[in-house]
Amino acid sequence: MTDYLVKALAYNGYVRAYAVDATSTVAEAQRRHDTWNTSSAALGRTMVGALMLGATLKGDDKLTVKVQGDGPAGQIVVDSNGQGDVKGYIDNPHISLPLNEAGKIDVRGAVGTQGFFTVIKDLGLKDPFSGQVPIVSGEIGEDFTYYLAVSEQTPSAVGVSVLVDTDDTIKTAGGFMIQMMPGVTDEVIDTIEARLNETARISNLLDEGQTPEEILQNLLATDDINFLEKMPVQFKCDSSKEKFAKAIITLGADEIQAMIDEDHGAEAVCRFCGDKYEYSEADLEVLKQAALGEA
Ligand SMILES: [Zn+2]
Repeated sequence: MTDYLVKALAYNGYVRAYAVDATSTVAEAQRRHDTWNTSSAALGRTMVGALMLGATLKGDDKLTVKVQGDGPAGQIVVDSNGQGDVKGYIDNPHISLPLNEAGKIDVRGAVGTQGFFTVIKDLGLKDPFSGQVPIVSGEIGEDFTYYLAVSEQTPSAVGVSVLVDTDDTIKTAGGFMIQMMPGVTDEVIDTIEARLNETARISNLLDEGQTPEEILQNLLATDDINFLEKMPVQFKCDSSKEKFAKAIITLGADEIQAMIDEDHGAEAVCRFCGDKYEYSEADLEVLKQAALGEA
């Protein structure tokens, strides 16, 4: 089944909510980067959060989420946009830690608890918007929540979860983001918070066969839900041989000549999707001429 995200309004518009099934999307990232279970969960949770944050943008706008903690995972970088596209990587894809005390994947152990959580939004304006907060949890969901509260002044509850199978493949991945709009009553907040506390992780609900719509209905504890949009989400990288060629040209003619003389070609690997792009000596000769033309 295709992954998708739903957007909804509840309680007369005082509560905005998103839920996403990103199972195939995170599974593709796992295959492309050969992530082991703890890395899979850390990267997957960041991708799920970035998808929901991206869903708040308009079509062509895009954002980058960077999680830079002091744990063995290193940096996690995820790009997403208003059209449900997401791509990302984790510096160290091969982390497999013992389960934590709660019997869950130890994402905090991989990410670390010191460092920064940054969101950069490209809204088509001259300067991108950038917000940065310290990492407060390392479990990712709480870090999205803290970022939204502090940097965007939007009280939210964010849940992101990834269920990894024993062979490291992704069983399910998904999440929810519930945002309180100004004027929401304490009663509504209490009702939703109580429901959140008694609800299982989204990845388990997805594993039981629940849909994002059903998950939101349950989390929001009301029938007063207006589903606004259902948007497909997918792993998508826009890298290409042409784009990397432009980067090679900026290295300059001398550097390109060295690639021809020493390596008789070049290979570029996209960090986001792992695709490889090969450049023959003839390709490089063309790029060298372009570099000379730009000099
Ligand atoms: Zn790529």
